[in-house]
Amino acid sequence: MILSSDDLPMFFAPDHAALATRLRAAAPAIAAVEQLPDPAARDRAAAAALGAAGLFELCVPPSSSRALCLARELLGYVSPRADSIFAVQGLGTHPIALAGTPAQRAALPAFASGARIAAFALTEPEAGSDVGAIATRATPTADGYVLDGDKLFISNLGIADHAAVFARLGDALAAFWVPLDRPGITVTPQTPIAAHPLGALALRGVAVPHDARIGEPGQGMKLALQTLDAFRVSVGAAAVGMARRALDEALGFVRARVQFGKPLAEQPLVQAHLADMAVDLDAARLLVLRAAYANDCAKPAVGGPAVGGGGEVEGAGARAARSALIAIAKLGATEAAQRVIDRAVQLFGGRGVMAGAVVEELYRAIRPLRIYEGTSEIQRTIIGRALAKGTP
Ligand SMILES: Cc1cc2nc3c(=O)[nH]c(=O)nc-3n(C[C@H](O)[C@H](O)[C@H](O)COP(=O)(O)OP(=O)(O)OC[C@H]3O[C@@H](n4cnc5c(N)ncnc54)[C@H](O)[C@@H]3O)c2cc1C
Repeated sequence: MILSSDDLPMFFAPDHAALATRLRAAAPAIAAVEQLPDPAARDRAAAAALGAAGLFELCVPPSSSRALCLARELLGYVSPRADSIFAVQGLGTHPIALAGTPAQRAALPAFASGARIAAFALTEPEAGSDVGAIATRATPTADGYVLDGDKLFISNLGIADHAAVFARLGDALAAFWVPLDRPGITVTPQTPIAAHPLGALALRGVAVPHDARIGEPGQGMKLALQTLDAFRVSVGAAAVGMARRALDEALGFVRARVQFGKPLAEQPLVQAHLADMAVDLDAARLLVLRAAYANDCAKPAVGGPAVGGGGEVEGAGARAARSALIAIAKLGATEAAQRVIDRAVQLFGGRGVMAGAVVEELYRAIRPLRIYEGTSEIQRTIIGRALAKGTP
């Protein structure tokens, strides 16, 4: 089954069943994008299909962590390309949802509809896991700011109209909402192993007005971390979707493929692979849903009601404990999905490593999820630090 909210009802609210039905209905049009003969047209077509299905409304701003996870579980299953475009639309616009001025927020409906596409530009050549090393500089001028620097590995570049750009302003970081057609901006495409729009962004004397700044001058780091925190668990959900697809593909194959006079599915060692895949998949989904539920209980989603916490401000201890749950979900689900997909490739034998096989595409698609939005090592650091400090 592609997606359901029925099997773990304790994690879901009644409206999630309707959302799951809506997501399944949108799936065929999104999946069809991968059949377009021109690969270069697929990123824009995937963005258009997401917009036509109204799915960006689920991430601009996120209606709830569980809704975001349901959407990414489906998208991971049907189209890892669409999944990445969807997630980055949310990441790119979230700083505005968190701290934008009324005029900046007025632009959000165009992103919620898919008429415009956003990017989130944090990483730099010398600032990857170490976000504090960001060197892009914002220099104040009479009219606003001038931005200079380089960003690397920025998703949605090539199809994006605007980016949330993080830059050093004085001693601290600030966030800026930058139209990507400004003079001084160069986008250079990058080609990852996965189907995923990606590019490098060079900013050379890019002038932006005062009202391009998002939030207060020193608020950039907080906005970046809050944005990543809001979306990190959903990376695990996308991984679950990809792993479920791999298991379904593998099941279809081993039931049909006959060797030694019977279907592979009847071989005990093949069944052992399937069992291990099912355990990894279920454990991953449980970790993700637990963290998503905790997110939704902790505080209202932007513009939405809390499900259980009453909307009160979360204390530092509870916050640290929730961060650890999110890190456990991201780490556990992405690593488990990699194992599930690797087993699926193994069960396909030679067919599993042929270019264009679904499991071969999943094998490439899953890999970046263990790297972006905090590598597995960074998630282990968060979890280990919380344990060492005695965070409950
Ligand atoms: C497909 C893809 C899409 C991306 N999209 C975006 C995007 O849209 N916007 C954006 O801003 N960025 C994006 N990124 C960048 C991504 O967030 C970074 O690649 C990631 O944070 C790691 O940074 P890095 O590549 O510089 O690796 P580094 O930070 O240099 O790390 C290299 C290795 O060292 C390990 N390491 C680093 N520090 C430690 C430590 N303290 N302890 C132990 N190990 C450590 C890492 O875990 C990793 O294994 C994307 C990356 C990819 C691959």
